[in-house]
Amino acid sequence: MADMTAPHSSADASGSACRPLLNRGLAGFGTTIFAEMSALAASTGSINLGQGFPDTDGPAEIAEAAVRALRDGRGNQYPPGPGVPELRAAVAAHQQRFYGLGYDPDSEVLVTAGATEAIAASLLALLEPGDEVIALEPYYDSYAACIAMAGATRVPVTLRPEGDAFGLDLDELRAAVGPRTRLLLLNTPHNPTGTVLPEAQLRAVAELAVERDLLVITDEVYEHLVFEGAHVPLASFPGMRERTVTISSAGKTFSFTGWKVGWVTAPPSLLTAVRTAKQFLTYVSSGPFQYAIAEALALPDSYYTAFREDLRGKRDILSAGLTAAGFRVFRPQGTYFITTDITPLGGTDGLEFCRTLPARCGVVAIPNSVFYDDKDAGRALVRFAFCKQQPVLEEAAERLRTLAL
Ligand code: PMP
Ligand code: GLN
Repeated sequence: MADMTAPHSSADASGSACRPLLNRGLAGFGTTIFAEMSALAASTGSINLGQGFPDTDGPAEIAEAAVRALRDGRGNQYPPGPGVPELRAAVAAHQQRFYGLGYDPDSEVLVTAGATEAIAASLLALLEPGDEVIALEPYYDSYAACIAMAGATRVPVTLRPEGDAFGLDLDELRAAVGPRTRLLLLNTPHNPTGTVLPEAQLRAVAELAVERDLLVITDEVYEHLVFEGAHVPLASFPGMRERTVTISSAGKTFSFTGWKVGWVTAPPSLLTAVRTAKQFLTYVSSGPFQYAIAEALALPDSYYTAFREDLRGKRDILSAGLTAAGFRVFRPQGTYFITTDITPLGGTDGLEFCRTLPARCGVVAIPNSVFYDDKDAGRALVRFAFCKQQPVLEEAAERLRTLAL
């Protein structure tokens, strides 16, 4: 019997008395935590260290490039379905320049509406009902929703605290692979834990994918935010290029999250599949911004280095502030997020902690439990974003210090 009390159920509109309006696959996916917490920040005037967006825009010359494109009439009408040639060429050149990976801009690169659409199109293209997808838990929220929309089943493998960071247990990963496993969905550097999977583990993951003939989708949107060691794309390991869909996004690397320019690199057969699904999601997006991001990708190495070093400094400021405020701090090796444990502050429930934090001290954070199937594993964990101006981070740290008083 359908739940007549469920939100959005309607006897009037559909005429079918007890059927909820929301597709059953999406039952339980309410408002995203990012929307909820950003609304809370706005309504309470709190410092928003929740949703991950920078509080300063990316390079002025890249914003100017977007204005120029718009004024010159480039991208104001539908751009080509796979993306403008300039951006596809720039993505291919970026993969070659940073990783020595060769992709053909015409058959192996696809521009998307942010990484979010790339994730959705990839999962919708490659999955069928009954398939299982292994995803690292905690997982980025859209993974669960898109796997559900594809009618497939997620099989989480939980990253667990190991010292001052989170780690992957390769035996657990191996044990999760079964006869229905269709693909591995990875994310490194990892949101929300800040974990960067070490090269030896990536190699083992690659060997497993080859051995079990699995497809791989790898979300590498934080590829330029690795503070310890270097980013190694999964596609660079033996046997991986042909089975891997790599996803990235300009939002993170160039601090223009609102432009929603993302991309996929993959061999032609996989790319064609993803493009087929993508055509019917947005078809195309972000016309003038595509030209600007083509220029951004070609910025000199000094841009990328300065971006990373700036964020490294901010990581250290917020880590110190959170430690001083009494949190157990997990040290992020990458991304612009810090996961903390609130237990030393006497908290046990991160969701309740985050909902009351604005009233207690004027700061907003994200409860990691929403990214877990195993709620107990994430219950006391809370994520703070440090992609904010230094005085903002210092003020937030001051406010958080009052929690312990
Ligand atoms: N994947 C991860 C891991 C993310 O943190 C985000 C958030 N930016 C996305 C994908 C979505 O990226 P975009 O804003 O480009 O859609
Ligand atoms: N990726 C961002 C984060 O993790 C949020 C993106 C969104 O709002 N969907 O905070």
